[in-house]
This record gives sequence, structure tokens and C-alpha cells, in this order.
Amino acid sequence: MKLPPFAYRAPESLEEGLELLAAGEGEARILAGGQSLIPMLALRLARPSLLIELRRVPGLAGVHEDGSGLRIGALTTELVAERDPRVRAASPLLFEALEFVGHPAIRSRGTVGGSLCHADPAAELPAAALVLGAELTARSLARGTRTIPARDFFLGPYTTALEFDEVVTEVRVPAPPSSQGSCYLEVSRRPGDFAMVGVAAAVVRGGDRVLDLRLALSGVGDRPRLLTRDELELEGQDSPEVLFGQAGRSVAARIRPPEDLHASAAYRRHLSRVLTERALRTAFERAALQGGAASA
Ligand SMILES: Cc1cc2nc3c(=O)[nH]c(=O)nc-3n(C[C@H](O)[C@H](O)[C@H](O)COP(=O)(O)OP(=O)(O)OC[C@H]3O[C@@H](n4cnc5c(N)ncnc54)[C@H](O)[C@@H]3O)c2cc1C
Repeated sequence: MKLPPFAYRAPESLEEGLELLAAGEGEARILAGGQSLIPMLALRLARPSLLIELRRVPGLAGVHEDGSGLRIGALTTELVAERDPRVRAASPLLFEALEFVGHPAIRSRGTVGGSLCHADPAAELPAAALVLGAELTARSLARGTRTIPARDFFLGPYTTALEFDEVVTEVRVPAPPSSQGSCYLEVSRRPGDFAMVGVAAAVVRGGDRVLDLRLALSGVGDRPRLLTRDELELEGQDSPEVLFGQAGRSVAARIRPPEDLHASAAYRRHLSRVLTERALRTAFERAALQGGAASA
């Protein structure tokens, strides 16, 4: 379908972009990679009067690493992030999740910030961001800069904590604990499709015991939610295998998955249990492989 009419601006500074966004009073939208927004326009699911493309604004794309973790510019494409060896080394979970996002052609346009701001409940990056304890930096003319933890960012399907006049400029991903292993698994109808169910998992290992675990699932609710050991009400003293089985059953009992063309709610619940167990087991094994020196 043809796109509906809209005005287009490509400012050369962030301040100019923020001014345009604020003046739009909710009718203007940021255009990043356009991989979600343009289809939404074509389907008339969004009717902004102005698109503001930030491609010419310096400093919004790129990966930086310091001892405390990664800083990823919001306009960094998913492919650039995936291919950056610092992302793979410092945040293997993010790397693994990125590989599941669409196809390379999609990832060469789609951005890390765009995926998080779009907040598709079946998307991979929001679930990974929750498990990684990522934080988003948001800028606006009215409020300056604020930091939003991923945990507070996703409010519902395609709905985030961003105000209409805010731009996400950066995503901070803290370095994981040295004894943490991680894993992202998903089942989709075809490679590159959105997840029917996706599971992001991280396990902190101490010898043969699980010291901590974190999970978030894609495709099983209105948004991904962070699930910790306490939230899953797991008992502390069991062997890892017993614990992972308990976690799978607890996840399956807590979610209310949607039913659609691709999968019944019962099938999504089954996948959630099986993938949770597998992802936790793999994360645990990877922590051992790394010998506690780095996360996997
Ligand atoms: C065929 C196809 C398959 C796909 N498969 C998958 C998949 O398997 N998994 C998956 O997760 N995604 C998938 N996608 C979506 C893809 O990952 C998109 O890149 C992503 O969802 C949006 O990123 P974008 O940069 O293209 O954002 P855009 O489409 O440009 O924007 C999306 C939304 O976010 C807002 N926005 C973007 N950047 C910012 C910012 N910095 N600050 C404030 N608001 C902002 C926009 O205003 C818009 O509302 C697929 C897309 C296509 C076309």
C-alpha cells in the first residue's frame, strides 16, 4: 500500500530534532531504520504528520566499551552491533539475540534503539535488555536527559515509558558478573520470523550451584517481563536440574500467552516451559566453560 502523506525533516543536530519533535505535539515521530515504522504507515497503523530522521545527527550511532560495560548509540544498526567484536565479547546474550532479529537485510537498516522503542512483544532485543539490566538514555527539550531502566521502559504492546517529545540517544548494557553464563533461544515458524516464543536467560554460577538467575520471554504476553528467582518462587537448595525444571513449570504457570494463526496458547505455554529449561541449562553450562572468568 502507498504511504499516507507526511512531512519529512532530517535535522543535523539533536537539538533541532528535539525542537521539531516537541513542536509536533505528539503528531511527529522519529524515523530510525524504518523497518517497523514504514510498514505501520503502509498499514495505516500509524498516521504521523511529520517524520524526523536523525541519520545526519552526529554521535547517535556507534559502540563504545569501558570497564563497566557497553554504550550503544540508539541509531546503531542491529547488524553493526551484531558484527562488533566488543558486543560479542562483553554481552554474548545481546549478540545471540541480535542474530535472531529478522534477516541481515532487515538488520542492516533496523536500529538497536528503534527495536527497543518499537516495543513489539515478540521482539528479541527487549527481552535481552531486561535480562541484561540495560538502561536507556532519553533526551527531550523539556526534561533534559533522563535514564530509564529497561525494567521500567516496556509498558505494553508497542508502548513505552517515553514521552512524545523524547528521543532515546543511547543504550547502556552493564558488564555481567564474571561467573554468569547466558543464552537466548527461540522458536519461530521460519528463520528470521518474529519469535512464537523466545527466552533470554542468564545464570550466575558458583561451583555446582545456581547463585542467581534471570529470565525474560518474548511472544507470550503484552510485553516481556523480567522474571527473577524470587518472582518465580523457586526453592533455593535444589540441584540445578531440579531448579531449571521448577523454573520452566513456574514460567508456564504464570504466563497468559496469546493465541493466533501461528500457535495456540497451549503450544506457546509448552514452548515456554521447554525453552526456559533449555536456556537456563545452557547458560549454566556456558558459565562453567568460561571457568568463571568471563560470561558466555
Ligand atoms: C520483514 C521484517 C522482519 C522482521 N523481523 C524481526 C524479528 O524477527 N525480530 C524483531 O525484533 N524485529 C524484527 N523486525 C523489525 C526490526 O527489528 C526493526 O528494525 C525494529 O523493530 C525497529 O527498528 P527501526 O530502527 O527500523 O525503527 P523504526 O521502524 O524507524 O521506528 C520504530 C518505532 O520506534 C520509534 N523510534 C525509533 N528510534 C527511536 C529513538 N531513537 N528514540 C525514540 N523513538 C524511536 C519510531 O518513532 C517508531 O515509533 C522485522 C522487520 C521486518 C520488515
